[in-house]
Amino acid sequence: MSERCIYCGMEIEGEGIAKEIDGDKIKFCSRHCAVMFEGLEKKGRMKVVIMAERNAIIEDIEKERGTKVITLIHRREPWEEKDENYISIEDTEHVLMNIRQTSRDKNVDLILHTSGGLVLASEMIAMAVKNHPAKVTVIIPFYAMSGGTLIALAADEIIMEKDSVLGPVDPQLKDMPAGALISLLERKPIESISDENIMLSEEARKGIVRVQKFVEWLLEDKMGKMKAKKLAEFLTGGYMTHDTSIVFEVAKGFGLNVKHGVPKKVYDLFRTFEFGACPRPQYAKY
Ligand SMILES: [Zn+2]
Repeated sequence: MSERCIYCGMEIEGEGIAKEIDGDKIKFCSRHCAVMFEGLEKKGRMKVVIMAERNAIIEDIEKERGTKVITLIHRREPWEEKDENYISIEDTEHVLMNIRQTSRDKNVDLILHTSGGLVLASEMIAMAVKNHPAKVTVIIPFYAMSGGTLIALAADEIIMEKDSVLGPVDPQLKDMPAGALISLLERKPIESISDENIMLSEEARKGIVRVQKFVEWLLEDKMGKMKAKKLAEFLTGGYMTHDTSIVFEVAKGFGLNVKHGVPKKVYDLFRTFEFGACPRPQYAKY
């Protein structure tokens, strides 16, 4: 197999340009790339090297599985101080662009590792996953909670380990579960509830209905309308705490198309990330 330039990722034709940098002999496709790499700060070089390693692993997984691999992994990047910790609109654009650039007949593997994020961002990714004409498999080595679960529900197949976890998808408003907000109205006389909380419960009610309908739509072609409606109600109605773990056997019992056995190379990919102060799933925002 031909080598790739560490800086630009292009295949190196012929000998390429070899340079000794920080005691390592590194090959580049051109003098330009060698100069650019040498001019980077230490963290910039770290990023280039790690991204090259990551891309090579992704390419291996794609070859092994005959798919296009897309990642949505919330862990700390080794070259960054800040954690990336929830599903944002930037993530949405990244995933959507990648799915759109994949030909309609190419199967997609989406490697998912997240404790959740913005509802809109997660919904957009879920729609793109559902709308891709070829098969989409979501691979969950550890967890995909909340918005991550929503995305997984859109997939044709979920590959997880026996102890990987999904979670409920009930919306959270201002860190409060929608189901609990609604129940406030039944528990207290209306005069003793603040205007803000009355408005929040109204939003909570709309939020639950919206996510419920959305989940129903995600599931109905996979398990039929009745079953989809029941499962959507269960996952969004606030019957469990937001950090309840839904393991493989439970997901299977729900009728989801789950398989176990995350490809080994996916774990190699995780080696290229750091553990960060990522919020634990119990702090998951939806
Ligand atoms: Zn290059």
